Amino acid sequence: MLLQGKKGLIVGVANKRSIAWAIAQAAHREGAQLAFTYQGERLKESVGELAAGLGGSSPLYECDVTNDAQMDQVFAGIKSAWGSMDFLVHAVAFAKREELEGDFLPTSREGFRLALDVSAYSLTALAQRAVPLMTDGGSIVALTYYGAEKVIPRYNIMGVAKSALEASIRYLAFDVGPKKIRVNGLSAGPVQTLAARGISGFTDMMKIVEGKAPLRRNVQIEEVANAAAFLLSPLSSGITGEILYVDCGYNILGM
Ligand code: NAP
Repeated sequence: MLLQGKKGLIVGVANKRSIAWAIAQAAHREGAQLAFTYQGERLKESVGELAAGLGGSSPLYECDVTNDAQMDQVFAGIKSAWGSMDFLVHAVAFAKREELEGDFLPTSREGFRLALDVSAYSLTALAQRAVPLMTDGGSIVALTYYGAEKVIPRYNIMGVAKSALEASIRYLAFDVGPKKIRVNGLSAGPVQTLAARGISGFTDMMKIVEGKAPLRRNVQIEEVANAAAFLLSPLSSGITGEILYVDCGYNILGM
């Protein structure tokens, strides 16, 4: 029960295959009380059904992370439901499908802006609103990927967005450390999700990892979720501004 008595918001559940949902299940198992967001009315019912499956009543809020007013409402809702919160999970990313295939060179100004807004700035926007509610310290975890630091063909603009996300993690960690709030990134190996299906050649990426990673397999979503539970919990109390790889060791390879 690593998260007994802790209350946290999970942003990024789209369906039962979402990494955010796996993290929610691990956090629930460890005793946390959870709130969820969904993006747009079409997802309200499915995210609501998943949340209800955990038993108890999890607050549920609409939140498009490009919409400041909606984000304000989420945290006003959490303040009135809970008074304070202990953790935040950021598992949100988006880029235009046509910019996740072929070359990086043709990336458009609008595609760049959109990917960086949804996938990177959103962490800062959410943290601005979560930090005042983390009155007894807290932990913020954001999902990232190795394409932030090395070229992964076709990951393109999302790699640039993840670089910005990882730099944001470090700057946020520096700002909020004195408030006993930690901010970390969790760099997951490839996992079959809705977002992953938008990256052309994703199945090939999984085959390459399986053939080369030190553990000779792809990471299981439960392993990503367990590592997130660790970063959210007091077991990781001395870790902040860090990127933790949960990728079967793939990132250590030079060739
Ligand atoms: P997913 O289930 O599709 O989750 C992505 C989430 O981002 C969805 O809930 C999506 O909602 C949400 N989102 C997109 N635009 C949004 C917006 N404007 N406002 C609010 N939410 C928005 O895929 P996932 O793989 O679990 O992704 C979760 C995180 O893990 C992402 O940051 C991703 O980059 C990261 N990650 C994934 C992998 C992988 O291999 N799958 C590896 C490393 C890191 P909609 O579906 O409604 O758009």
